[in-house]
Amino acid sequence: MATTTHREIRIDRSLCMGSGQCCWYAPNTFGQDDETIAIVIDPAGDPDDAIEAAADGCPTQAISIVANGAR
Ligand code: SF4
Repeated sequence: MATTTHREIRIDRSLCMGSGQCCWYAPNTFGQDDETIAIVIDPAGDPDDAIEAAADGCPTQAISIVANGAR
């Protein structure tokens, strides 16, 4: 079975409060725009563990990881 992790990382801009925590957990994946709202700079920038930790650690649950597997 293929283990390619092709997935999409979504940030709900209305939920993000700009804490920057995701950038701390996964600095190569998340960044912040001019309004300090989180943006994805590279969906494969960090190991899955780090990206999941960022999603789990987001205080407002603004990050969702959507699996893009074949269906
Ligand atoms: S951790 Fe959540 S609230 Fe904080 S910047 Fe990232 S997405 Fe926004």
